[in-house]
This record gives sequence, structure tokens and C-alpha cells, in this order.
Amino acid sequence: MNIETDIVIIGAGPSGCMAASILRDAGKSVLLVDKNTFPRHKSCAGGLTPKTIAELPFDVNSLSQHNSEKMLFTFTNGKTVDLNNELGACKMVIREEFDNYFFNYVLQKGVEFIHTKVQKIFEDGEGVLVDTAVGTIKSKFLIGADGANSTTRRLITKLKYKNPVFAFEGLVKKENSKKNVPTKFVFNKLGYSWIFPKRDHYNVGIGNLIFDPSCPKPSKKDLYDFVEQELGTEKLEDITGFPIGTEGECYSPMSKRMYLIGDAAGFAETLLGEGIYNAVISGKYLGHAIKDSDNPDCVYEKYNQFLLGMKKELALYNRGAKILYKKQRMSYWMLKLFFGRKFMDGYSAGKTMTEIIKGKYPFPSI
Ligand SMILES: Cc1cc2nc3c(=O)[nH]c(=O)nc-3n(C[C@H](O)[C@H](O)[C@H](O)COP(=O)(O)OP(=O)(O)OC[C@H]3O[C@@H](n4cnc5c(N)ncnc54)[C@H](O)[C@@H]3O)c2cc1C
Repeated sequence: MNIETDIVIIGAGPSGCMAASILRDAGKSVLLVDKNTFPRHKSCAGGLTPKTIAELPFDVNSLSQHNSEKMLFTFTNGKTVDLNNELGACKMVIREEFDNYFFNYVLQKGVEFIHTKVQKIFEDGEGVLVDTAVGTIKSKFLIGADGANSTTRRLITKLKYKNPVFAFEGLVKKENSKKNVPTKFVFNKLGYSWIFPKRDHYNVGIGNLIFDPSCPKPSKKDLYDFVEQELGTEKLEDITGFPIGTEGECYSPMSKRMYLIGDAAGFAETLLGEGIYNAVISGKYLGHAIKDSDNPDCVYEKYNQFLLGMKKELALYNRGAKILYKKQRMSYWMLKLFFGRKFMDGYSAGKTMTEIIKGKYPFPSI
């Protein structure tokens, strides 16, 4: 089977669906390719910040299970900073439901879908050829949106992302918990554990955000210990783990027709492991760049302008993570005395990190 399309997008998560939505609205033919059918599970705590919600092309209210108006941040010395904002710094969704909604939303616009795996990718003078198990796809542009373990990244770049951050998540039914807990992060010197409330359960997780080859990766046992301590139960279900793509400061496109977005590019941040915002915003900018011009030189230039802002934003998060995790005593006092309120209010108002710290929006206007 040979298929022709304007744009082929590998991966139908939030980054791929965002790009698909913008390109389809502009009248382009768009083909999404995913190795899974939907609904599918994706290891994720399902926290959507207000800046993410503001970028989505649909209303998430019907999917929201909780609004985080109260957040607790506990440090290794046992001290906790308690922050509140009535707007809420995060809305909690079930990731399977959110992705399935977004996927069906773009299909309804006329985006095509093929359930298959990519085998080879070639570029010729006129476009891109993608060999899959069901045939060859010919397109003008290719977008790699296939997550932290991206096959597309391996096939179209020489990048070696070697420090993948890894996190486990699972769920505790509220009926099994001995405590009623708001949104909570507990920090250690390599990363964090979290409790994210949903309607009838808590999403709980543990992840390393600082790469240190001399230290062990988080384990399922660490997650059980955390849940026992925080919620007083051993009844933990549906544990899965996955890397988070965080090495995006190294990413530069190697072709003017083939690009990476979201976790495939490494755009998740290392402070609290938020990746959906940068997935969505990178899909948006690349979608607009391709929508505005069929000329690969113009697309390349526009996406690179966006990447300048993205790399600065990621660098800010990386600096913040080193302070938060390595200098906990100082972080506690900084959060307690002034930064906590600034962050809680900034996140609740839908600001990016660059806006919170430097007062300006990091990305070019569209
Ligand atoms: C445990 C955990 C908790 C997290 N919690 C949060 C959170 O609360 N909030 C937040 O903002 N971020 C969170 N993240 C990060 C977030 O999940 C990612 O940043 C986000 O999913 C990236 O979106 P994406 O579209 O780039 O990739 P993904 O969501 O990973 O989607 C990639 C898609 O590509 C498909 N695919 C993969 N390989 C192939 C292939 N070879 N061929 C075809 N298709 C393929 C997959 O099936 C998938 O549908 C968490 C991550 C983890 C691991």
C-alpha cells in the first residue's frame, strides 16, 4: 500500500495531536501513525497546568477530576511548605481519557490514522518516505512525536539521549487510604514523589529528575514505601513506569523536512517533570510553521526561532532543579519566604517559567 499525505506525524500523544489539529484546520492532509490503538495507557500523573489548558483546542472541564487549589511541598528535613491559590495550579485528568479525547477530536476534523510501526525513514529532493509494516507513506514533512523512547529520533538524528529521567506511577483507591491528602510533592536529593488526587483515587508516583549514574534508579519498592508512609496502605494498583524525555537542550533539527516535538525532542522539564505543556506548545509552533509555508527553509527558520525560546526555558528549569534537589535547606526557605507564593500564583495564572522569573513570554509571537 502506498499512501500520500501533506504531513505524516509519528505518535498520536498530545504533541502529535496538537500539531495535527493545527495543520488540519489549515486544510492540510494529515496522517497520524501510532504503534498503539486508542484508548491506550500512558504512564503519567495526568496533571495539566493552566498554561497547558489555555493552549488546548478544546475545553477540558468535562475531563477534570480535581483542581489543585492547595499544594504541599515536603523536604528531606521533614518540613512542609503549604501553598494555596483559589484558581488552582493544576487540573487533574486521567491520562488515558485525555489522550483518547484529543485523538478522537483530531480524527473528527478529518485527520487520518494508521496503527502501525515505523521501520525506515528516507528523504529525497521532493519529500519524505516512511516505510511501515503496512506500506510506504510519502509526505512533504515528517513530525516525530513518538515520546521519550522515540524511534523517529533514532532514525532521523544522531542524537544520543543517554540520561533518561525515569518515573513510576500507580493508583491508590481513596477507600484504601487512611488519609485525605491534597496535591503533594515530597522531594529527595535525586527527585521527587507525588500524590495527585483524582475523583475516587490518588495517582502516586516516584521519579528521579537529577541524573546521577552512581545512585540507584527509583524502584517499585520505593513507591510502596512512600505510599505506606503517606497514605498508610499497601494497596497500590496498576504500577507502570516510563522515561521522561528531558534532554531537549541538545536538540537541533538535522533536516528541513523532518522535525521532533514533545518528549521525542526531550522537551519535558526537570523541576517537576512537567512535559505535556512543552509537548503541546512544540506541536503548536511546528504546526503553524508548516501551515504558513510549504518551503522547508521557512519552516526550518521558524521552528528554530521557537527552539531558542524553548532551550532558554529548559535551561531555567534545569538550574531550578539543581537548587531544589541539591540544596534542600536553602530551597525550603526560598519557597517558604517568597518563591513559593510567586510560583503558586504564577502557575495558577497560566505563566511559563520564563514569565515567572523574568517577566517575559519565552516564545515568538505567531
Ligand atoms: C510517570 C510519569 C508521570 C508524568 N506526569 C506528568 C504530569 O502529571 N504532567 C505533565 O505535564 N507531564 C507528565 N509526565 C510527562 C508526560 O507524560 C510527557 O511529557 C508527555 O506525555 C509527552 O507527550 P508526547 O506527545 O510528546 O509523547 P507521548 O505522550 O509519550 O506520546 C507518544 C505516542 O507515540 C506512540 N509511539 C511510541 N513509539 C512509537 C513508534 N515507534 N511508532 C509509532 N508510534 C509510537 C505512543 O504509542 C504514544 O501514543 C509524566 C511522565 C511520566 C513517565
